[in-house]
Amino acid sequence: MDWIEIDGSQGEGGGQILRSALTLSLLTATPVRLYNIRARRAKPGLRPQHRAAVRAAATISSAVVQGDEIGSRELIFQPGEVRPGRYDFDIGTAGSTSLVLQTVFLPLARAGRAAHVTITGGTHAPKSPCYHYLAWHWLALLRSLGFDADIEMERAGFFPRGGGRLHAAIRPVARVSPLNLLSRGRLLQVRGLSAVANLPGHIARRQRERAVARLGSRYPLNDIRKTRLPSPGKGSLMLLLAEFENGRGCHFALGALGKPAEEVADQAVEAIIAFLESDGGVDRYLADQLLLPLALAEGESRFRTEKVTQHLLTNAAVLHRFDIAEVEIRGRVGAPGEVVVRPV
Ligand code: ATP
Repeated sequence: MDWIEIDGSQGEGGGQILRSALTLSLLTATPVRLYNIRARRAKPGLRPQHRAAVRAAATISSAVVQGDEIGSRELIFQPGEVRPGRYDFDIGTAGSTSLVLQTVFLPLARAGRAAHVTITGGTHAPKSPCYHYLAWHWLALLRSLGFDADIEMERAGFFPRGGGRLHAAIRPVARVSPLNLLSRGRLLQVRGLSAVANLPGHIARRQRERAVARLGSRYPLNDIRKTRLPSPGKGSLMLLLAEFENGRGCHFALGALGKPAEEVADQAVEAIIAFLESDGGVDRYLADQLLLPLALAEGESRFRTEKVTQHLLTNAAVLHRFDIAEVEIRGRVGAPGEVVVRPV
């Protein structure tokens, strides 16, 4: 099999290029060499979360790996056969458990038998899908395409402490249906979650009250819950999920030291309003996260995204290199757009 060389400085120039390349390398049994890894980030090269993704991908496939130390900007990854089984990965920091799970999810879903994966790290890390985004939204959409998995959070891990843990049971997928989501249909409801870990209950209450006050008169709110999350550290979350007849969008915000509860709620509210006021069938983040799953579908998918992003364009570029799907993106960066994924 010919090697594929991937320039990690292209487009967004971040960790997603690496993770998508690993997933695609496993799915197509193609060895890859990555260079300029995360060249556009302040601390380039592999960070603990990226190294954990490399090691997870290597563990499930007994891959031969060179260059997987922290800071490495070049990686050689030669996968073997993906083996289902029980795996336990520890990121060692508050790096995102979701992004490590997404790296191995598709290869394990196609591995013929059920797999069980435990990942320790940050379940609610900045600039990544938090656990509840995965559970309420990403997995819900993947299930509608035919994927069969459950995820569960044993405890939450927030920045900077981490120490969260998620468990995933991934069963084989028989057939992946294409997605047809050019028109999202009528808005059914907006659900939400206001959560705290080891912080006073009034924070969850204030986040919730603010979200309800700002959205309640305009949108059909249903079940904006308050909850406490078990966690070794402190943190807060406000998540909002808009469900349409066909489409769905999810946005959330995380608390931080000195950031008032109302500001956390406002951030999530403003992001979900932007989605509600667009005509996107999915939010800007799910758009880039859907390309790889849809590359495995039996047929062409079409969906409308809230916003075309650099992440979307970059992920499409990485996908093209593996010749398993063609992606066409209509629309400018920063504006709504239409995405077509044609598996080859
Ligand atoms: P770095 O940018 O440091 O390299 P990274 O490895 O976290 O970091 P990115 O290339 O930025 O990687 O990819 C981040 C991924 O997380 C993308 O798939 C993006 O859609 C997703 N993501 C980021 N923010 C959110 C959010 N608020 N909600 C859902 N998903 C998100």
